[in-house]
Amino acid sequence: MSALHQATLAELGDLIARREVSAVELTRHFLDRISALDAQLNSFITVLPERALAQAKAADARLARGEGGPLTGLPIAHKDIFCARDTRTTCASRMLEGFVAPYDATVVQRLDAAGVVTLGKTNMDEFAMGSSNETSFFGPVRNPWDTARVPGGSSGGSAAAVAAGLAPAGTGTDTGGSIRQPAALTGLTGLKPTYGRVSRWGMIAFASSLDQAGTLTRSAEDAALLLAAMAGFDAKDSTSVEAAVPDYAAALNAAPEKLRIGVPKEFFDEGLAPDVASCVREALAEYERAGATLVEIELPNLHLSVPTYYVVAPAEASSNLSRFDGVRFGHRAADPADLLDLYERSRGEGFGAEVKRRILTGTYVLSAGYYDAYYLKAQQVRQLITNDFARAFESVDLIMGPTTPTPAFELGAKTADPVQMYLNDIYTIGVNLAGLPGISVPCGQIDGLPVGLQIVAPHFGEAPLLAAAHRYQQATDWHRRWPAGWA
Ligand code: GLN
Repeated sequence: MSALHQATLAELGDLIARREVSAVELTRHFLDRISALDAQLNSFITVLPERALAQAKAADARLARGEGGPLTGLPIAHKDIFCARDTRTTCASRMLEGFVAPYDATVVQRLDAAGVVTLGKTNMDEFAMGSSNETSFFGPVRNPWDTARVPGGSSGGSAAAVAAGLAPAGTGTDTGGSIRQPAALTGLTGLKPTYGRVSRWGMIAFASSLDQAGTLTRSAEDAALLLAAMAGFDAKDSTSVEAAVPDYAAALNAAPEKLRIGVPKEFFDEGLAPDVASCVREALAEYERAGATLVEIELPNLHLSVPTYYVVAPAEASSNLSRFDGVRFGHRAADPADLLDLYERSRGEGFGAEVKRRILTGTYVLSAGYYDAYYLKAQQVRQLITNDFARAFESVDLIMGPTTPTPAFELGAKTADPVQMYLNDIYTIGVNLAGLPGISVPCGQIDGLPVGLQIVAPHFGEAPLLAAAHRYQQATDWHRRWPAGWA
């Protein structure tokens, strides 16, 4: 097998089970790589060597007693949007630069309980607003496949860290594509579960009706392992769903022979780079060879998903971010003249340009006189988009297409024009508006840069989704490609 840092979680779990490596050795290996290499990527905001080694020791003790499960002793990195007790949690914002969380997010708590080791907290777009990981207060993240290029956002820190072998896996959140896009641009497997599948408790809120936690891994098998520990009802999140968590690992090999795959014609529009389209078509042909039938489908309202999302998400963000006022939460300006000055300067200094743009847009679309024209209209269109997907799933099992219109672009290429940046989300955002599960798997390369295939399933269809991705990864090796210079 390849080097430790190129192994999947499943492979590392086998090594641990056979006592060929200890959790402490594994943790040291990754901590050493982070300190030697992360200056080139900026993928971590906070590295947690002490916490990690203490967790690794506890995991080794548990394993020595013959206890623990498939994740015990395996290190991962958490996006810095998840609160971790007594640990700095910044959401990549100056607003929360010094915030130490008093409790664990449910995702963190459940993975801790499964024996996972937390290497650190990863960089991201500020408050998860972005598609390229360039809006972070802590500076942009670079793509290990080409450090002049973006890793995708907003979970770009977790993606870059995993792609470069600084962590075997990472958590992310996906409000409009923030797991699937960075997965596509860094050659990883990125899973966004059904809205409500994983608890949002302790995950700093961006757009609460869209936010969902998921994973960035080297394989669908690893995504299944992590999801099994993360998923399930949580009384602390009123939108978490009370549905049993299937045995995702057991379901991996149960993909039906005769899959019906819907291919939306809207996914192959003029915005899609032709070489990305060829990679995706080749992946679809691979499914066909394995017995699947491709069915051309229509999602007639999908072209409205970007404008719809960029009304709904900012509206919710403007409300969620009102708590950061220098009084209840967040950065507090020095020497305020009066209360208004305190609010204005605390928020003015604490938030970056993209976050301010979202707050302004969101406040505008919710204001009296504009609410009906923008917010209410967007909610109605959201329902139409949801209906499009529901209708499509009456005749197909899964929907497939590209994850992003292009491979990774150069840093700075789209920062001057927010609308250009928002158009990166064109293939991922509809899935969030409809609350569906989606995954991106590596399906090719263009000039040495990875390309992602997106697979979408009906609500709570994570098991068939993962099985379809796993089957593809049994037949291809795109997910095992490694960026030059990071071996
Ligand atoms: N790119 C989208 C945005 O900027 C989605 C981000 C996300 O999924 N967190 O809002």
